[in-house]
Amino acid sequence: METNPCNTDFNGKSSIPSKVSRKGHPDDTIVKVNGIQVGGNEIVIIAGPCAVESSEQLFETARSVSAGGANILRGGAFKPRSSPYSFQGMGEEGLKLLSLVREETGLPIVTEVMDTRQIELVASYADMLQIGSRNMQNFPLLKEAGMCRKPILLKRGMMATIEEFLLAAEYILSHGNDQIILCERGIRTFETSTRNTLDLSAVPMLKRLSHLPVIVDPSHGTGIRWMVPPMAKAAIAVGADGLIMEVHYKPEVALCDGSQSLSIDEFDLLMADMKKIAKAIGREISVPTAKTV
Ligand code: PEP
Ligand code: MN
Repeated sequence: METNPCNTDFNGKSSIPSKVSRKGHPDDTIVKVNGIQVGGNEIVIIAGPCAVESSEQLFETARSVSAGGANILRGGAFKPRSSPYSFQGMGEEGLKLLSLVREETGLPIVTEVMDTRQIELVASYADMLQIGSRNMQNFPLLKEAGMCRKPILLKRGMMATIEEFLLAAEYILSHGNDQIILCERGIRTFETSTRNTLDLSAVPMLKRLSHLPVIVDPSHGTGIRWMVPPMAKAAIAVGADGLIMEVHYKPEVALCDGSQSLSIDEFDLLMADMKKIAKAIGREISVPTAKTV
């Protein structure tokens, strides 16, 4: 009879699968994103626009977040939008812009992949592939991501339990890819004052149950610009290994998620504050290795 690969240590009631579990893998996994290590003592900052919109928007934003101390650049080329009439992203043109910006700034890039048919294309440009909240249980996509040789940023489904989230990561691991970063990005609750409810309790829980690095997205987690700095600082305090945040050189004209995007000045102020919080808990914000521009 085949042995069940699940442990029974999930809150003592349910089970978590074996490869993703800390049981049998007590050491933290360090994910390497083109030279940037995620999951060690240093906290990694991923910043950039929600979507790649134009050359000017991407270069201006990337230069500023790079100068401000970001370690990795984010920017969606294929966007999962609630309405089919909203801006859907620049597609391959956006990927080309991201790789040009990487050339100039030296920042590794992370961008979303929504479909198995896009994996090869996106992986040929990006340093890390993002699987978004809406696709956390797209099992064919998870399997393909498992066979891909690039690190995966897996965002928690907006209706997913911790167990379902870890099972999604297990799909990727069991198909051969152990370079996975888990991202808490808020879940749907009865609360309507914020876009989502940022479940910061997921951070210590995930870190306890799994060896994978855990980062937090306070932009989608709150949907509100002024709430991003306090929740980013709180995320560091509860043990997050990094943050992914939306920053735009002109948030007021952003084609996507402007109301939750930090301005450059707000990002710079937050970086200074986050350094203090990191120091207080015996960690550091990762010092960028990017070229200075
Ligand atoms: C994003 O990062 O732009 C995004 C769409 O995130 P999520 O999948 O968490 O909604
Ligand atoms: Mn967004």
